[in-house]
Amino acid sequence: MIPSQATLDRLAAVVGAAHAISDPAAMDGYMREWRQIWVGRSPLVLRPSNTDEVSRILAIANETRTAIVPQSGNTGLCGGQIATDQGTEVVLSLDRMNRILNVDPADNTITAEAGVILKSLQDAADAVDRLFPLSLASEGSCRIGGNLSTNAGGLNVIAYGNTRDLCLGLEVVLADGRVWNGLRRLRKDNTGYDLRDLFIGAEGTLGIITAAVLKLFPKPRSRETAFIAVASPQAAVDLLSLMKDMSGNRVVAFELIADLALQFAMRHAGVRHPLAAAAPWYVLAELADPAPGAMAGLLEAAMEQGLVSDAAIAQSDSQRAAFWSARELISESQKPEGGSIKHDVAVPVSQVPRFLAEADDSVSRFLPGSRFVSFGHLGDGNIHYNISQPIGMDKAAFLELWDRMNDVVFDVVQRFSGSISAEHGIGRLKAHRMTAIKSPVELAMMRELKRAFDPNNILNPGRVLPGTAPL
Ligand SMILES: Cc1cc2nc3c(=O)[nH]c(=O)nc-3n(C[C@H](O)[C@H](O)[C@H](O)COP(=O)(O)OP(=O)(O)OC[C@H]3O[C@@H](n4cnc5c(N)ncnc54)[C@H](O)[C@@H]3O)c2cc1C
Repeated sequence: MIPSQATLDRLAAVVGAAHAISDPAAMDGYMREWRQIWVGRSPLVLRPSNTDEVSRILAIANETRTAIVPQSGNTGLCGGQIATDQGTEVVLSLDRMNRILNVDPADNTITAEAGVILKSLQDAADAVDRLFPLSLASEGSCRIGGNLSTNAGGLNVIAYGNTRDLCLGLEVVLADGRVWNGLRRLRKDNTGYDLRDLFIGAEGTLGIITAAVLKLFPKPRSRETAFIAVASPQAAVDLLSLMKDMSGNRVVAFELIADLALQFAMRHAGVRHPLAAAAPWYVLAELADPAPGAMAGLLEAAMEQGLVSDAAIAQSDSQRAAFWSARELISESQKPEGGSIKHDVAVPVSQVPRFLAEADDSVSRFLPGSRFVSFGHLGDGNIHYNISQPIGMDKAAFLELWDRMNDVVFDVVQRFSGSISAEHGIGRLKAHRMTAIKSPVELAMMRELKRAFDPNNILNPGRVLPGTAPL
């Protein structure tokens, strides 16, 4: 339903004319994401400055049955933060709610509004000699409310967990405008149902997160980072096991990179090969606070066992940064190679080699010449299984295969009891797949929760759950 002008005026009055955007040119940045895959249309973008304004907006939206799309940093990859093209949904941006409310190095906590940019949180932690370990390539733009709502993963999950594991408390505005202040700083609190965890990863369908208490950690005093050549994903899995054992569980990052992914980064993003010669696969591994010389010792042992053919250990901060940029520039360097059909999947760590072999085989049969740009967080069993179009194929014709290619890959994922969305969420992109991947009882519980928290279906309708179409 398109909101009436009277409703739009009431909503705009809450934030004031300066922060209620209805001019299409001015709202453009809120209507599309960086890849231009999702482009929406909306009568209004609201930019509240505090929780009370969010509360008043939702009370009006609930009364008038106006659909609200929460948006934080707009880096989400599943379209959940972008209004549909129907012009029926109002966007609520958290970008003005960007205050850090408290940093407490004694309790090891940081309390921040939902619109704080992830990098600013990391910097605020650093300023008191602490670490906020969530780290993603989008950290200069994504905001903590979005990170919580997608339960973002990233580079250090192997050591510190997902965003869920980093959160102690939340403040949430419910669909009817009521405010839940759950900004607790407790490490232990077994007093009933864990409401906090319901909102984390809910992608804005159950409530709007307005603030959070997050965990801080001691900063590692030293790191050792290595770029390592391996013959196969199985060698990488065996290396991970050896590294964990020999380092005393000091592995804080363990990324797998296919040679083609590195080649793309070299060809299109100015990356220099970190090693003297190419290998079929690479691992980028990092140890925090290792015993002196630990990385060299364990790489020597790995070479003796035939797991590693070559490796370089970063000798300086700039060399470490160069290793990491080789990894981080993979995503954008796929673009000049034409169409890329992406999958963000997870299987048990030990099953990654078999998954990759079976998925490559199935995809090659479906579309001969497909090019596999596989990389990702092997330490978490999470692979970005991206497929670049065959050389010479028409890009549009390739991208038309998106859904059918997904079917092929997800069939293999299901065989391994894996996840079709390890860290990016469901959003609009994969909502139609929920009935295939969730049992009827699981779906029923999710629907009942949605009904309990948002009976009028005003919060991000149609995202995550199938059958919750826009009102
Ligand atoms: C280059 C690049 C690299 C990336 N790497 C990773 C990675 O390694 N790991 C990873 O997990 N993700 C990654 N992402 C995806 C993305 O950055 C994450 O999903 C991030 O957590 C989204 O945060 P955001 O602030 O941009 O959220 P948005 O895009 O604004 O929103 C994401 C979802 O959360 C909802 N939402 C936003 N704010 C709120 C709120 N305050 N309350 C309730 N709901 C809300 C939105 O409606 C939407 O459904 C990457 C993206 C890019 C572009």
